[in-house]
Amino acid sequence: MKKKNVVVSLLFWLGIYLMMVLAPLIVLNIGDLPPGSGFWWDLSMAFGFAGMAMMGMQFFLTARFKRVSAPFGIDIIYYFHRYLAIAAFVFIFLHFLIIRINNVEALGAMSPLEAPWYMTTGRVSLLLFMLLIVTSLFRKQLKIKYETWRILHIVMAVTALLLALSHIEGVGYYLATPEKRWLWTAYTLFFVLLIVYIRFIKPWSMKRHPYRVVEIKKEYGSAYTIVVEAVNHSGMQYKAGQFAWLTLKDSPFHIKEHPFSFSSSPANNNRIEFTIKELGDFTKTIKDTPIGEAVYLDGPYGTFCVDNYPDAPGFVFITAGVGAAPIMSMLRSMADKNDKRPLIFLNINKNWESIIFRDELEDIQNHLNLKLIHLLSKADDAWQGERGRVSKALFQKILPEDFLEFEYFICGPKPMSNAAQKELYGLRVPLSKVHFELFDMV
Ligand SMILES: Cc1cc2nc3c(=O)[nH]c(=O)nc-3n(C[C@H](O)[C@H](O)[C@H](O)COP(=O)(O)OP(=O)(O)OC[C@H]3O[C@@H](n4cnc5c(N)ncnc54)[C@H](O)[C@@H]3O)c2cc1C
Repeated sequence: MKKKNVVVSLLFWLGIYLMMVLAPLIVLNIGDLPPGSGFWWDLSMAFGFAGMAMMGMQFFLTARFKRVSAPFGIDIIYYFHRYLAIAAFVFIFLHFLIIRINNVEALGAMSPLEAPWYMTTGRVSLLLFMLLIVTSLFRKQLKIKYETWRILHIVMAVTALLLALSHIEGVGYYLATPEKRWLWTAYTLFFVLLIVYIRFIKPWSMKRHPYRVVEIKKEYGSAYTIVVEAVNHSGMQYKAGQFAWLTLKDSPFHIKEHPFSFSSSPANNNRIEFTIKELGDFTKTIKDTPIGEAVYLDGPYGTFCVDNYPDAPGFVFITAGVGAAPIMSMLRSMADKNDKRPLIFLNINKNWESIIFRDELEDIQNHLNLKLIHLLSKADDAWQGERGRVSKALFQKILPEDFLEFEYFICGPKPMSNAAQKELYGLRVPLSKVHFELFDMV
């Protein structure tokens, strides 16, 4: 998508977001107001409504609506989701804190046995929102497994939202007139429908468009390529470099899905490949997948695509390990299109044995204008190519004269990605020409 269109989309979605967050504040303050308790009381209510609208909109951000995520990339949306959750929690906490400081009597009894039900639901939802933030920000430090965290996250988010909505309805403050009650009921319905869409309608649609495993190929470097074919539908239209969430050995109604980049060329969208490195509980099971097993795909997503830069004079790819998977998709696709623009591929691996697409990369050079450089960090003495880590000197050696005009695609672990970006910026490659995909969402 062109830069100008991205800015227009950004402004459009930002406008929708702000409208959804600010509308309750404006409408609920029009007309007869309930007998207030002054500035602090009203400010507390404003924080409460804004925080709640933001929490509700979190479901919108993670519903993976393609029109919303397409201009920016879903990873950006997830980062947005992460930081807005913190802001929303601060607002909701301020709502509570201001009343706690200025009108403590309004909070009434703490005990659920004595307090009205809607005060208890408010308190429990505040606690759940806090737990959501802590477990998300510190998941790795708390040593919570990704899948356990994901289940907890969904259950806590849905429960906290429903409890908070019931708190607002129960208190009824600012909802005295029918119009205001209608507005908030519409909000409540919107948020509930979003949950229904994410948890039921979308998985149901995936269930109706299944794929099946037709081949499992062993690759170098503890990786496997899983090949899937669409069953009774036309498959998925994706761009090289994009990814999909894959659910295997399970129903799409369950939540054990994992994101993987397409490694195949989109030219044949009925035969889709993902190249997966053995890393943890799920990825280590790929090799044992029976042929014929049902697979469900949610995608395509992502903006890490050479196709978004049709006017680029050339491309530089920098990857480490399985980060080569989306680049392989781009190379295969460019070979299919007979694209002869200059390409430089710096492929970083531990040693010769761990280079995932080693043989095909040698072969594909015959079909592309590709300069392939293997950089090995733990090469044996016989290795005569590049060794060590990315450095300014290496880039100066491998990049062409007009390197400032090229588009750069980096995919691999964060330390490598950060180091490569730092060196490129040091060489004055413009920020807007450097694109990266991290294989980690949280
Ligand atoms: C956009 C994107 C594209 C990716 N493409 C590829 C690819 O082409 N090939 C490849 O081998 N890997 C790819 N990955 C990484 C892959 O999703 C994880 O390695 C895999 O989900 C790990 O699962 P596990 O249970 O085997 O490992 P675990 O040991 O359970 O997880 C290792 C780490 O991977 C992350 N992770 C685990 N499960 C998920 C999940 N469901 N969703 C998101 N992150 C998770 C967590 O940070 C976790 O700490 C990609 C990731 C992203 C975000």
